[in-house]
Amino acid sequence: MRVLSVASEAYPIIKTGGLADVAGALPAALAPHGATLTTLLPGYPSVVQSLGAGEVIHTYKSLLGVKARLVRHSDAVIDLIVLDAPALFAREGGPYSDPTGSEWPDNWQRFAALGRAAADLAGGLVPSLDFDLVHAHDWQAATAPVYLRHGNAKAQKTPSILTIHNLAFQGRYGPEIFKGLDLPQAAFHIDGIEYYGGVGFLKGGLQCATAITTVSPSYAQEIRLAEFGMGLEGMINARAASVRGIVNGIDTQVWNPATDRHLNSHYSAGKLGDRAGNRAALKSLFGLTASRGPLFCVVSRLTWQKGIDILVDLFDDIVAMGGQLAILGAGDAALEAATVAASGRHSGHIGVRIGYDEALSHLLQGGSDAIIVPSRFEPCGLTQLYGLRYGCIPVVARTGGLADTVIDANEAALCAGVATGFQFDEVTHDSLRHALRRAVTTFNQRKDWKSLQKNAMKADFSWARSGLRYAQLYKELL
Ligand code: ADP
Repeated sequence: MRVLSVASEAYPIIKTGGLADVAGALPAALAPHGATLTTLLPGYPSVVQSLGAGEVIHTYKSLLGVKARLVRHSDAVIDLIVLDAPALFAREGGPYSDPTGSEWPDNWQRFAALGRAAADLAGGLVPSLDFDLVHAHDWQAATAPVYLRHGNAKAQKTPSILTIHNLAFQGRYGPEIFKGLDLPQAAFHIDGIEYYGGVGFLKGGLQCATAITTVSPSYAQEIRLAEFGMGLEGMINARAASVRGIVNGIDTQVWNPATDRHLNSHYSAGKLGDRAGNRAALKSLFGLTASRGPLFCVVSRLTWQKGIDILVDLFDDIVAMGGQLAILGAGDAALEAATVAASGRHSGHIGVRIGYDEALSHLLQGGSDAIIVPSRFEPCGLTQLYGLRYGCIPVVARTGGLADTVIDANEAALCAGVATGFQFDEVTHDSLRHALRRAVTTFNQRKDWKSLQKNAMKADFSWARSGLRYAQLYKELL
């Protein structure tokens, strides 16, 4: 099975969040199951610079009005085709926004070009490259199935999967951009890319993809409800037979406490005492004093989705319980400011790093006792999976992938010896406070805590199972 995977980011080449981890891991996850993935990525400056020359496999005089080239990098960490379109991607800033954090006004054109190039490739644009299936990720790649539907006969016959990593980001634009998409007028229709009188990239993709997946079984159910469906629940229900949830795996090579180059001291489930070196390094980095209670951490985008506003209000409680907290995150300016301000009252007990720091995110998992993930919704979540692997006990809201991957330390789970963390129901101050208190109490019962850590580290969230599920879906569609 030759699969064209289409994504706006892929680790380790370009990453802003969990989507990159998944897109970067899928090729290796699927290889044992007979699927060969080639990943189509936008040519952001960092991508073009880090990859070198590559092989030009196609030159567009005009791709949605701009000059572009498709450049193959078959010797990169993953097999890549880069959409090199300087007018769209050669600019300072992030993949989606300018250096001030405002979305690029031409994002519709940037990512429609990505979807169009994917459909062209599937339609046989480069004769030496044949693809059996297109696997598109999130709104940025969601036009690929739309262009496939309106492409040549080969494109129309190519099955497609759209994976939703987060339904909150949909790529919605006014009707005026439609003419720039170079789609037939028929596509501006309720069965196509039209959405409430405008254009909806994700909506169009959901409509046109042969199958839809999301990144956990619970989230696949939740998005059928108004509370989580972000306005698309009607569509998702209409296509329910084609929707399935496949939980994300993690890269167990990159995330391995026995070899992780970002850790001060390596350890395994049998040598948990060796975590102490990482804990000490964190305490010093975050300016935390010696203490007997647990060291909690957060590694997260600082946004409403992640429930950080609730957590900030509980800083006093965490310190009163004897806990400490180290936060690494970036996101909404107001939440960043609130987090820093609230931590100011607790210097020595709560430390905050605003920014994105891959190395520090590993050290936090390898040295903290527990990771707090109080998300209001969470399609899958990766930080709790890294936490499990590193014996950094997850304290999570019972939603989406968090519900599917953490076994709450209730009495039954403790008796059966299977608990791996703490779950709470509502993302409210009371619920989160209660969960944190349970964590502190258990931490003080050292034997129970140690068995939680061992269970957590035993949990297998490698790609083995999820890779197989994607491969089964590919086979069904073919
Ligand atoms: P989302 O994709 O919604 O942001 P996930 O939990 O699925 O959330 O994935 C987040 C990924 O980004 C994880 O790999 C996490 O370690 C990483 N991450 C988030 N914030 C930071 C940060 N400030 N510094 C380093 N890594 C971060």
